[in-house]
Amino acid sequence: MKDLFEQMIKAMGEDLSRPGLVDTPARAAKAYEFLTSGYRMTTEEVVNDAIFPTDSNDMVVVKDIELFSLCEHHMLPFIGKAHVGYIPNGQVIGLSKVARIVDKYARRLQIQEQLTTEIASTIQEVTGAKGVGVIIEAKHLCMMMRGVEKQNSSMKTSAMLGYFRNNLSTRNEFLSLLQ
Ligand SMILES: [Zn+2]
Repeated sequence: MKDLFEQMIKAMGEDLSRPGLVDTPARAAKAYEFLTSGYRMTTEEVVNDAIFPTDSNDMVVVKDIELFSLCEHHMLPFIGKAHVGYIPNGQVIGLSKVARIVDKYARRLQIQEQLTTEIASTIQEVTGAKGVGVIIEAKHLCMMMRGVEKQNSSMKTSAMLGYFRNNLSTRNEFLSLLQ
């Protein structure tokens, strides 16, 4: 990506030999490698066997997971929070692993709707939960810095699987725990 950033900076009309920019292509390449590192993570290594038996049937909710992603339409950041809930079916997943699953799908080119769905189906797949709910609220820099320039708009998306989709009281319990 370093060569491509060089070309991009030149195309912007900048002088690549200027001291502040000399190392920028290499730095930007490294930054983007990190911001897209989700492509190179497997669910298996992210979860790392942190699945534990439980007798509980009570809802587990992990709130306010910070989220940084790149919109696939403009390659500009979108930034927000994910809230994840599930009802265990004999096993729970380590808390930090929920956040790592969020990172796996956030660190790539994304649209918020798909990110939400991918997190929900991965939690479902690795825990075998009776139901999963994911809500993401995010601000998109492509809307804030350009285009309609709406500084304060945020987008909310949700994905509901199993009990969360079929059972109104489960869904309401989830939503009330997020208040
Ligand atoms: Zn965008």
